[in-house]
Amino acid sequence: MGAMAEIRLHNTLTGKSEPFVTGHPGEVRMYTCGPTVYDYAHIGNFRTFVFQDVLRRFLQLRGYRMKQVMNLTDVDDRIIAKAAAAGVSIREYTEKYAQAFFADCATLGIEPPEHWIRATEHIEEMVGLIERLRAKSYTYESEGSIYYRIAKFPDYGKLSKIDVSGIQAGARVDVDRYEKESARDFALWKAPKPGEHFWETRIGPGRPGWHIECSAMAMRYLGETLDIHTGGIDLAFPHHENEIAQSEGATGKPFVRFWLHAEHLLVEGEKMSKSLGNFYTLRDLFAKGYKPSTIRFLLASVPYRKQLNFTFDGLQQAASSVERLRNFAARLRQEKFPAGEQAGFAARVRRAEEEFGAGLADDLNTAQALAAVFDLVRETNSAMDQGQFRQGGVAAAAAFLAKFDRVFAVLADTDAEKLRALGYGAESAGPGDAEIEALVAERNAARKRRDFAASDRIRQQLADRGILLEDTKDGGVRWKRK
Ligand code: AMP
Ligand code: ZN
Repeated sequence: MGAMAEIRLHNTLTGKSEPFVTGHPGEVRMYTCGPTVYDYAHIGNFRTFVFQDVLRRFLQLRGYRMKQVMNLTDVDDRIIAKAAAAGVSIREYTEKYAQAFFADCATLGIEPPEHWIRATEHIEEMVGLIERLRAKSYTYESEGSIYYRIAKFPDYGKLSKIDVSGIQAGARVDVDRYEKESARDFALWKAPKPGEHFWETRIGPGRPGWHIECSAMAMRYLGETLDIHTGGIDLAFPHHENEIAQSEGATGKPFVRFWLHAEHLLVEGEKMSKSLGNFYTLRDLFAKGYKPSTIRFLLASVPYRKQLNFTFDGLQQAASSVERLRNFAARLRQEKFPAGEQAGFAARVRRAEEEFGAGLADDLNTAQALAAVFDLVRETNSAMDQGQFRQGGVAAAAAFLAKFDRVFAVLADTDAEKLRALGYGAESAGPGDAEIEALVAERNAARKRRDFAASDRIRQQLADRGILLEDTKDGGVRWKRK
């Protein structure tokens, strides 16, 4: 093995790509802003969540132990208003979407973080943090709400690089989400509104502003300085800027070493978002017959700091990329190659592995990592076709694919199973590997006993479901998806 490439990550705080270092040897403490559970998440949201999963899986591949927290924002302006309009409690309103989010993550192969937590279960921590800020005069009250005084925090703006010099002291903003132009003192705690849910607490009745939850929960589970904090680029301002102001104001210590932000998924040049109405949920795409692995591959294949333009053509290409990899893996499993070693093959696989690792180590350049995989697959397929590939190369190639899949997680054909679990006709996904291999074995048995009617029937059944059988020279059978 060659030397492993040093991991470098682009830090929004410094605007540079930097060597990755952690505060505790061998461990990565990472906080991920989770979804606001007022509706189903769309695939733009999942672009960001898949990026985080690829990051976490790559760090684990490099031997790090993860300590990741993801929150569910189950209290914010939109949720409170929607729950009140529906006449139900916050928990009742959000639970359905929280469960849908967990199911969607599992379907996309997103590993559960070590802590998946709800904002509403951490009101006490938020109150405690606001008290800490109050004791250091970072706060003031107005009409029952508590605000953060940004003029007291000279570093305000350092993440998003906004200029706050023109901001009038005491000008406030009450909504949770706002643009850079409206940078103002923001609400840590909001006075109750008639007909809306509130909490009785030591700092008075009310509800938390959106930003305080992430500071309070991150520090509760990960300590006062985290290694990595991630989110979509839209969260850099105001959300993450405010998190820094809250956390560093309270502790006087750096809150986060590496801020990583994913660029948006676009549809026809615009951000995919609920408010623009140009969004697809996973369920929308499954209903159109797309598979979980296709969507995961598409989302993971574009490096996270590049915008990803969503098209159905792109989905189609992702589907055929996954098929190419699965067919190659199946070929390694099924074919019998001549014994021995193909000259240079072991070194060729090592080079692919190095390129794969170097791509990911370079700020998670998934496109470069994938190119290393597909180059090897293409060359090896043609060596196999030309009879040059040898049985001795199978283990190394399979081990490399397994490594690839620890990060990309698309090889195992669990699409049909997953779709079935969500209540979709699994037909759209076609049969899974295990089912195909069982049918192929059945057909082999029929051929052995010279029951050609049965063997033809199974061949036809498979063909109808998009699986082709080819008889190989050595008298075996190989299958592939059309
Ligand atoms: P939200 O539920 O609005 O808090 O968003 C959940 C996550 O999805 C956040 O990290 C957002 O930054 C991210 N996000 C929202 N829209 C997009 C998009 N079109 N592309 C990529 N990430 C997005
Ligand atoms: Zn957050």
